[in-house]
Amino acid sequence: MRKLASIQTVNAAEPIPNADAIEKIRVLGWWVVVKKGEFKPGDRVVYCEIDSLLPETADFEFLRPNCFKPARTDAAGAVVLPSGFRIKTIKLRGQVSQGICFPLDILPAGAPATEDADVTEALGVSKWEPPQTGASGRARGSFPGFLPKTDETRVQVLEKVLARYQGVEFCLTEKLDGTSFTAFIREGEFGVCSRNMLLDTTDPMSALVGVAKRLNLEERLRAIGAARGFEVAVQGEVIGPGVQQNKYALKEVGLRVFNVFDVSAYRFLDHADALAAVAEMGLEAVPQLGTLVLGHGVDELVALSEGTSVLNAKAQREGIVLRPLREVDDDYLGRLSFKAINPKFLLKYDE
Ligand code: ATP
Ligand code: MN
Ligand code: MN
Repeated sequence: MRKLASIQTVNAAEPIPNADAIEKIRVLGWWVVVKKGEFKPGDRVVYCEIDSLLPETADFEFLRPNCFKPARTDAAGAVVLPSGFRIKTIKLRGQVSQGICFPLDILPAGAPATEDADVTEALGVSKWEPPQTGASGRARGSFPGFLPKTDETRVQVLEKVLARYQGVEFCLTEKLDGTSFTAFIREGEFGVCSRNMLLDTTDPMSALVGVAKRLNLEERLRAIGAARGFEVAVQGEVIGPGVQQNKYALKEVGLRVFNVFDVSAYRFLDHADALAAVAEMGLEAVPQLGTLVLGHGVDELVALSEGTSVLNAKAQREGIVLRPLREVDDDYLGRLSFKAINPKFLLKYDE
């Protein structure tokens, strides 16, 4: 779970060229533009990441002119997201600023105040989510427990992890901005999932079920399962017309795979095995951007995330996803995986 609001220490303060009244401070792996002198290195602050939706309380009222978002309701009129002040990536005097800092005295009595403590709930902060476009389909149940949900951690919170992985070889893929898709065989049964739900595979309106049918995924998963001797799931991004403004200008909805999973052993295939399996199934992987030996900090990886999409040279890419090429000991599920989001993409699309 992302800690949207937490207690952090200011690591550094640096001037911004041609700006007298403001400067940038470093919190975790983020740069935040603040009033000059407002915070000093060593200060403890409440830091709220981008995508924080701050409640309409007196402390945050000053954000109203630039950040107010009305409540969002579903078709039945139920509130799915409260109103509040949304924190997003901005650019001030040429400097990208991500997140916002407050003094500790905004914390209610009894809130945790130790380094890295999660104060999201204590402050009533929720997560702003972009409105979803495209019909993922009718749900048949919650996301199955025998599969991991797709997710990628932001590089800005992984400074300490990066330090441990220096010298390790990583593969890079393009992060695509579509909608998450999972298809699996488990105990002989085929299923399709969206990011958070198991879908009804008889729903004719579901774009995700439609993709699975058009690609004959059930057959392909059965065939590769038989060849490998275990049951297989694939996870990928569905992109194309009707999904996230079709940023890649595709003519048809398609799937780009980023995970191949051994359902029987609850284990991801490593990079080379996964690519081989994708090819064998006749599917397409997410764009492969090559490998690098990690000798990079957060800022260098964010710089690497900038660029246009392999799928559409006219579109900024959303970012990159990095994974060690081979297993390294202390990983989650034998695997570390994280994203660096292209700031230019956020500035352009993250309305
Ligand atoms: P956050 O947790 O930062 O608030 P989020 O969980 O809503 O964001 P994303 O920023 O979309 O999600 O990042 C994770 C998602 O990225 C995955 O669920 C997956 O669907 C998608 N994705 C797209 N391209 C790739 C790729 N190349 N490798 C892995 N995942 C990818
Ligand atoms: Mn996430
Ligand atoms: Mn996404």
